Amino acid sequence: CFHASLGPLARRRDEEMFGLKAPKKEKRVKKENRSQPPVEAPYVPPKPKRTAKSLPDRTIDIFEGMTIAELAKRTGTAISILRDILINVGEKFDSEFDPISIDIAELVAMEVGVNVRRLHSTEGAVLEPRPAVVTVMGHVDHGKTSLLDALRQTSVAAMEAGGITQHLGAFVVKMLSGASITFLDTPGHAAFSAMRARGAAVTDIVVLVVAADDGVMPQTLEAMSHAKAANVPIVVAINKCDKSTANPERVRIQLGSEGLLLEDMGGDVQVVEVSATGKLGLDKLEEALLLQAEIMDLKARVDGPAQAYVVEAKLDRGRGPLATAIVKAGTLVCGQYVVVGAEWGRIRAIRDMLGDIAEKAGPAMPIVIEGLRGLPMAGDDIVVVDSEERARMLSAGRKKKSEKDRLRKINEERIETLDASEEVSERVEMPFIVKADVQGTVQAVTDALKSLNSPQVFVNIVHVGVGPISQSDVDLAQACGACIVGFNVRNPPSSVTQAANRANITIRLHRVIYHLLEDMGNLIVEKAPGTLETQVAGEAQVLNIFEIKGRSKLKDEDVKIAGCRVIDGRFTKSSIMRLLRSGEVVFEGSCMSLKREKQDVDAVGKGNECGLVIKDCDDFKIGDIIQCLEQVKRKPKFVSSESGAVRIEC
Ligand code: GDP
Repeated sequence: CFHASLGPLARRRDEEMFGLKAPKKEKRVKKENRSQPPVEAPYVPPKPKRTAKSLPDRTIDIFEGMTIAELAKRTGTAISILRDILINVGEKFDSEFDPISIDIAELVAMEVGVNVRRLHSTEGAVLEPRPAVVTVMGHVDHGKTSLLDALRQTSVAAMEAGGITQHLGAFVVKMLSGASITFLDTPGHAAFSAMRARGAAVTDIVVLVVAADDGVMPQTLEAMSHAKAANVPIVVAINKCDKSTANPERVRIQLGSEGLLLEDMGGDVQVVEVSATGKLGLDKLEEALLLQAEIMDLKARVDGPAQAYVVEAKLDRGRGPLATAIVKAGTLVCGQYVVVGAEWGRIRAIRDMLGDIAEKAGPAMPIVIEGLRGLPMAGDDIVVVDSEERARMLSAGRKKKSEKDRLRKINEERIETLDASEEVSERVEMPFIVKADVQGTVQAVTDALKSLNSPQVFVNIVHVGVGPISQSDVDLAQACGACIVGFNVRNPPSSVTQAANRANITIRLHRVIYHLLEDMGNLIVEKAPGTLETQVAGEAQVLNIFEIKGRSKLKDEDVKIAGCRVIDGRFTKSSIMRLLRSGEVVFEGSCMSLKREKQDVDAVGKGNECGLVIKDCDDFKIGDIIQCLEQVKRKPKFVSSESGAVRIEC
């Protein structure tokens, strides 16, 4: 490659230096890039959607021991400014070539409004084999939950509402051979794709479940795109093979024609036929996953500070915020100070997925941690820091940055929606308060509601939270005229419901995301002002032309009357008339007179004849078509696609 700039070369050097690129494989896997495990995946904060108006979101790579001069170069900020920030956060500044810690580098970068990606060096570290982290994806009802159930011998499918998985948890399956596989419970609905996308960040392998009796469906394709975008290899599980209507061959052909290179067709994607409910082929699936993991040569650093990700978080009455996490590298130890997303805490307890206390947790081990001060979000990174002071500082810095980003985003969304609605005279705001059972769901519901934003109605999420709907939610809703949406939460106490009724506050509770969106979509449509639209209410053909000469003494003008027959719809006197000749518009004007058998009338129906005068129009010809135009108010529509995606169409 001959690059004109040194940029790509420098980037490659950095990546190699920090061990981000796995050493090149000699053979075995056809697609080399697929075999690279996302070990030591850097932390990338979720990016707000970019709009034409937004300043570009800049993300820079930072690492332990980088110099201030390096940071200044990457952030594009003067050293004098960085020096002031460093002194402000209590660091000393002797020379621009002083190394600084990765936490301080992040703090400084956030202060100048730049996102960071933390790079962790594996130089000199001992890498040990680790279990694969597997995500099960596929179309709704194809048996993801049943398959996970079968794999862990428990049954949660029956407890699910609406038959879709709505929580992101994790569990480990131990084999007889001693090997283990970590499974993430991923949600099955498109509205949860944000969470699923985050899940994929820690995922090594995707099990694509396809029902043998149903074949490839929209969410199957969506899951394939997710896996492809994350560069994660797929193992196909053709499920429901116990059914008499099962046709695994058809599924193979469909997947092949969608570009998935199946093993039987000479590719490298393994396919296993299973029955989740019949517990058939599960051993083959596990074997396939272990083989895929072996090909990928999954390894991680075990020693040193942990790098982990949150897969689910919830508030427990007795134990406070609980975060389900997967360690990616290093070891997380009880008692350590951590920063988790924008929250921080000291790990009070680590529990494994059976609820047993553990002193520490190594790579690919799903754990629940206690001791955080606030509730993190699914997808947040867990960073181990040296002290409480450092934890507080980093958490405060991240909170400040995310608040700034949030406000900027709201502003951009307002501008964006306003731009799109230039012809709309009126635009209303619909405030929502979202409450849900776990943080990940709050996020998913919020994201889904925002997809209902439209040029006519601005969906404003004024408050979100975990837990049941409370009196303070009702108070806030009253203050800003918001509708309260509860997802997977229990009914509010009657005092709260009564208070909401008195204040005329709408509370809607749902357990199935699609129902929630449909319900909210209809509320939004109701509230939308609608747009005025011109519609052809009737069509008439000119059969004859009559002329009445004006009386010159009274300065009356000559008048031309079109004698017509209404061939379609209705003609009303209050409407605008459009004259068409050979399909071309010749004239448009208001109706001056509408008569039927010499009588003035307000309307004439289809099949009837009438005399029509259009203001300032004397150019009628026999055979012309006259259209009667009416202004109608058109409300937006709630539209849902087969894949579950929804929107408001104006
Ligand atoms: P999900 O929406 O993908 O999580 O699908 P579920 O696991 O909830 O399964 C949807 C339906 O398919 C349930 O009624 C299951 O009992 C049924 N099902 C799942 N796996 C199998 C299977 O292997 N064979 C048969 N016959 N039915 C299955």
